[in-house]
Amino acid sequence: MSFLHEDKIVPADDLTAEKPPECPRCSARMWLVVFTKTTSDEGTDGSYTYECKQCGASTTVEKPGIPA
Ligand SMILES: [Zn+2]
Repeated sequence: MSFLHEDKIVPADDLTAEKPPECPRCSARMWLVVFTKTTSDEGTDGSYTYECKQCGASTTVEKPGIPA
């Protein structure tokens, strides 16, 4: 099942200076598929979800204090 359209997937370099992590399973470079910003009184937090195009593994990285 896939609810993400292929044309919504962009390389992380195009969206942010953050380097995507390597896949823990196959060491391929992962792709940013979801980026969520959460703004609170303390500032803006980012949540980056990366997916491996090779084996389908995914990982989410929380990044507090990103520029609003
Ligand atoms: Zn992989």
